[in-house]
Amino acid sequence: MSRAVKRAFKYRFYPTAEQAAELARTFGCVRLVYNMALAARTEAWTLRQERVNYNATSTMLTGWKKTDELAFLNDVSSVPLQQTLRHLQVAFTNFFAKRARYPTFKSKKKSRRSAEYTTSGFRYRDGRLTLAKMTAPLDIVWSRPLPRGATPSTVTVSQDSAGRWFVSLLCDDVIEQTPATGQVGVDAGLDSLLTLSTGEKITNPRHERRDRAALAKAQRNLAKKETGSANRAKARLKVARVHARITDRRRDHLHKLTTRLVRENQTIVIEDLTVRNMVKNHSLARAISDAAWRQFRTLLEYKADWHGRDVVVVDRWFPSSKVCSACGALAQRMPLNVRSWTCPCGMSHDRDVNAARNILAEGLSVIACGGGVRPQRVDARTGRSSVKQETQRVTAGIPRL
Ligand SMILES: [Zn+2]
Repeated sequence: MSRAVKRAFKYRFYPTAEQAAELARTFGCVRLVYNMALAARTEAWTLRQERVNYNATSTMLTGWKKTDELAFLNDVSSVPLQQTLRHLQVAFTNFFAKRARYPTFKSKKKSRRSAEYTTSGFRYRDGRLTLAKMTAPLDIVWSRPLPRGATPSTVTVSQDSAGRWFVSLLCDDVIEQTPATGQVGVDAGLDSLLTLSTGEKITNPRHERRDRAALAKAQRNLAKKETGSANRAKARLKVARVHARITDRRRDHLHKLTTRLVRENQTIVIEDLTVRNMVKNHSLARAISDAAWRQFRTLLEYKADWHGRDVVVVDRWFPSSKVCSACGALAQRMPLNVRSWTCPCGMSHDRDVNAARNILAEGLSVIACGGGVRPQRVDARTGRSSVKQETQRVTAGIPRL
C-alpha cells in the first residue's frame, strides 16, 4: 500500500547581501501587515462585535499599499503578505474553536523571522529556486535530494536567532507502507530519556552535557556585558548559536528514534504526560523535558500516520511503576530512589522497564476492546477508570491490520 503525503524538506542557504536585504525587508513587512490586520480585527471585535475575515483584511492591505506612509509595502513580493493574512485567519479560526489563545502581535526581537511563498511567488526549475523580486536563484545546500520529480507547492524562507538562513520546500511525496509486527510501550522515566518495554534505554544525545555547560557559560558571559554594547550583541549571538546546536542535536536524535520506532512496530503506546503532571507528583523529575516530549510525540504521530501505524496514548490513573508487569500485583510503596525491585511472584524489575511494559499492556487492552480485556483499574481518588474515554475515541477509528 502507498500513501500520498505532503512533506517538507528543509535546507540551509547562503543569500547574497542583496538577497539578505530583500528578505529582511520582506520579514519586516510581513510582521507589520500581520500586526496591523490583527489590530484591525481586534478593534472591530471589541468595539463593534464584528468579525473581520481574511477577505476583508486582504482589501485593507490593498488600501494600505495606496497610502504614502505604507507605499513601501509595494517594494516586496505581495505573496508573503497575503500568506501572513491567511496565517492570521488560521490563528483566529483556532481561537474561535477554542484550540488556541487569542493571537498576539509579532515582536521584532522574539518572533520567528519568516516569509511564505506560494507558487506565484517563486520559480523552481532544474533544481534552482528563485524567489519573487530576485534575479538570481538561492544558493541552497542540497543536503538530501527532493523526491524524484517533486515540485514544491509552498516555499518558506526563515532566519533563526543564530543568523542562519533556511528554506523549507513543501512537496508531494509517496510513502510505501510496509507491514511491521512489533509492539512497544514507551516510558518517560527517571534515569534515561525514554525507556522501552523491550528493556532498551534511550539516553540523551551525545555531547548534551557538554553543550549544556557551554550554554551556561555563554549565558553567564552575556549577563556581564553592558546593555546596548557591541560586545553584548556578540555575546547574545554566541548564546543563540549554542542554543541552536542543542535544539538541532535534540531534533536529530528524536527524528532517528521515532523513525526507528515506526519502522519496527505496528503499535506504539505512550502515556499522556500532561495528564500525569496534572494529577500529582511535582517531585517526579523526568529525564525528558516537556519540550522534548512534545516534539517526540509530534514526530511519532505524524510518522505513524504516514506509515499506517497505531499510536495509542494512555492516561495513567494507576501507579504503573508500582504494578508488577508479570503478575499484576500492586506493590505498597515505590519511593523515587527505588530503581529496581522484586515482586513476591519472584520477578525482578527495573523500575522504568516495568512501567513501559505496563504502558504497553494498557495500550493493547484499549485496542482489544476499549480497555475491557482486563479488569479495569479504578483510581481510588477520582473513581475514574485508568483509561479515559477520550483516549478510546482517538484510537477507535484506526483500522487494525
Ligand atoms: Zn509479580
